[in-house]
Amino acid sequence: MASLNVLYSVCNFRLQRRPNLPNNFISCCFGPPALAKGAQGSKSPRKRSRTDGAGKSMEDSIQRKLEQFYEGSNGPPIRVLPIGGLGEIGMNCMLVGNYDRYILIDAGVMFPDYDELGVQKIIPDTSFIQRWSHKIEAVVITHGHEDHIGALPWVIPALDSHAPVYASSFTMELIKKRLKESGIFIPSRLKVFKCRKKFLAGPFEVEPLRVTHSIPDCCGLVLRCKDGTIFHTGDWKIDESPLDGNVFDREALEELSKEGVTLMMSDSTNVLSPGRTLSEAIVAESLLRHISSAKGRVITTQFASNIHRIGSVKAAADLTGRKLVFVGMSLRTYLDAAFRDGKAPMDPSTLVKVEEIDAYPPNGLLIVTTGSQAEPRAALNLASFGGSHSLKLTKDDVILYSAKVIPGNETRVMKMFNRISDLGSTVVMGKNELLHTSGHGYRDELEEVLRIVKPQHFLPIHGELLFLKEHELVGKSTGIKHTAVIKNGEMLGVSHLRNRRVLSNGFALLGKEDLQLMYSDGDKAFGTSAELCIDERLRIAFDGIIIVCMEILRPQSINGSSQTCLKGKIRISTRCLWLDKGKLLDALYKAAHAALSSCPVNCPLVHMERIVAEVLRKVVRKYCSRRPEVIAIAVENTVGVLSEELRERIAGKTHDNFDLSSINQLSDMHMRKDSSSRFDEDAPDIMRKLLEAGAEDDDFDVEKSDAEVSLSESEDLEVENISSVEHLASSKASGRELMKVSEAKTGSLKSGKRNKWKPEEIKRLIKERGDLNNRFQTVRGRMALWEEVSSSMSSHGIIRTPAQCKSLWASLVQKYEESRKDEKIRKSWPYFSAVDKILSAPQTAAK
Ligand SMILES: [Zn+2]
Ligand SMILES: [Zn+2]
Repeated sequence: MASLNVLYSVCNFRLQRRPNLPNNFISCCFGPPALAKGAQGSKSPRKRSRTDGAGKSMEDSIQRKLEQFYEGSNGPPIRVLPIGGLGEIGMNCMLVGNYDRYILIDAGVMFPDYDELGVQKIIPDTSFIQRWSHKIEAVVITHGHEDHIGALPWVIPALDSHAPVYASSFTMELIKKRLKESGIFIPSRLKVFKCRKKFLAGPFEVEPLRVTHSIPDCCGLVLRCKDGTIFHTGDWKIDESPLDGNVFDREALEELSKEGVTLMMSDSTNVLSPGRTLSEAIVAESLLRHISSAKGRVITTQFASNIHRIGSVKAAADLTGRKLVFVGMSLRTYLDAAFRDGKAPMDPSTLVKVEEIDAYPPNGLLIVTTGSQAEPRAALNLASFGGSHSLKLTKDDVILYSAKVIPGNETRVMKMFNRISDLGSTVVMGKNELLHTSGHGYRDELEEVLRIVKPQHFLPIHGELLFLKEHELVGKSTGIKHTAVIKNGEMLGVSHLRNRRVLSNGFALLGKEDLQLMYSDGDKAFGTSAELCIDERLRIAFDGIIIVCMEILRPQSINGSSQTCLKGKIRISTRCLWLDKGKLLDALYKAAHAALSSCPVNCPLVHMERIVAEVLRKVVRKYCSRRPEVIAIAVENTVGVLSEELRERIAGKTHDNFDLSSINQLSDMHMRKDSSSRFDEDAPDIMRKLLEAGAEDDDFDVEKSDAEVSLSESEDLEVENISSVEHLASSKASGRELMKVSEAKTGSLKSGKRNKWKPEEIKRLIKERGDLNNRFQTVRGRMALWEEVSSSMSSHGIIRTPAQCKSLWASLVQKYEESRKDEKIRKSWPYFSAVDKILSAPQTAAK
């Protein structure tokens, strides 16, 4: 056991009751055969503790094995891995398996917190689901709430392309609509189930049981396999008189109890609420009472998915002679789904259209709206500002709040009702009005079901960590010995307790996966928090952003004899930053100018950008303790002057003076384009960059379709550059060689777009290159060959530098490679056969 302890300390692996480990448990942890399949399943990079020295590789390998979850046929046969919904409200998503075969129960979203700016939905870790897709054989959905189906558009693509999705019929209508909108509707994968009708999904025989909740057609799931029976409640309450007549199936639970339940997982949402929930029937009565007594128009606000509630409103409208109007898109979505499924309380086509509201007397109308959480764009919220086209509130309106304020939205909702009260409308809300009931069972209901089912193991699910722990206590109080609370990413193993001598002491914690949340902004953007820059958004919102643009005026003398100070035109813009009536802005300008003039004359632009940004950040921090984001952009405005001067020098006047500093300047000037490029005083490197930059500047235009051919990409080209640099560096006549390179540079600088290759020039280049093809086969000295090509071209009146010739050839080769794969390009590209003749010649085969 001592050695085991060492191993435990090496890794994160934790077991709940380590001292009582059964033997087979240990062997499956460390026995290689059990992990054989695991090697495949753990492609994922996982965090690993870095250890040095001789023990490293061994520790690493142990670590690797332990980081894999139980896999193979050893260990507890029933396995549970929550991906979302534990330790938080929403995003319900859980893997339940028998050995290595899993099903996914629910795939829901979570809605963002106030500090997750611009995020619309949070989705469970689809990259993990994808990694495990070979083990996930089916998805089973308990009901149609967003926190159970909302992530399907992202989860389905992460799964094996044949994995079926099971749901009840109403739920499936909602899923279908969602998948159609996302363009991933594959009818053959969608399977509808019925309560008490068993079906096979993955390793389990699944039996859905009716539970009552705040949306129709909700199920708990009984999962049977040879190693035990699991009961997953889904979301539930016990409604003794549900409006659709589908009662909570206590009898099924009693039968299940006799059969024996290995593991029960139950909804913890309302464990802190004592007593029992109200029935929807009570809410229906209160709605009718309030609507009957209203003299003017009545507006109700509620959750769109609560079709039962809509049924109650409809019944009240009928009894009071009012016409029903829906304001809010999602109300129709759910009603239409219910209608298609044959469970709607009314035909959606009988609703009064929003545009016709004014045609009815106020006391002849009953308006149903969404927006109970004061969502910014919801009709009720807009109406509270007087900004809704469809809904104008008056002092005669009565607003019935038939919903609950979701924790976190209190302030927003209260402000909305303040505005509505200010308009003079009457607002009816609060517990005593009995206008709402929860869909999640209260403590007494939770306890009752635990007492009926009497599971061997109990795992509270769906809720904040606090709720899960409280629910665990409720479980213990009903006499359940084996309970556990885990968080998302923690994997639990369970064995059925057949008799006292067999197997586990309850749960075994098998491992932990570092899951990450995925974010959607409601449009294309989808990714991790880092990918969607969630933290950055908040930082900028809190601390502001400064953008400083600098047009740099370098002193005209390159060798810096006359003037030693950098100057620049500076423009500063800010957002989300308090400027103290311009005082801070003045300070920023002063600091930026000072910082700039402190830079050396030949300072690369990237350095200036960094220095100025740092200074501005400090200024703001000192001024008002904010730490804004600073974006500094420096551009040169002396390119023309400088290049002209260089040209003159190169042409002879200052030939002997041609030194590294001018090359530095030149190369620096060209590295502008890439602000991340590093300033480097290593001469060969600079020359190489110079050559590359030269290649980039050659704006040739072989044909329109060639516009996007990128240069300098082939490794071959890199080799040539380096070898030519070596060649230049070693040559005694380096001055002349450099001059040629520089000419290429300045020529291209000056002429820019005008310097395009004409077709006859291209043909000539191909010919000259072809003539020297044999000699080009040796790697060394290619630049000299390009000089030959260049001079042969000039004898035909075509003035092109060796670097220009070489870069055009590189792009021709690239284009040729593309053409070989694509017949269309091949046919339309006039140079194919000429280039082909050269490149397919036998001596180039070794290239
Ligand atoms: Zn839920
Ligand atoms: Zn629900």
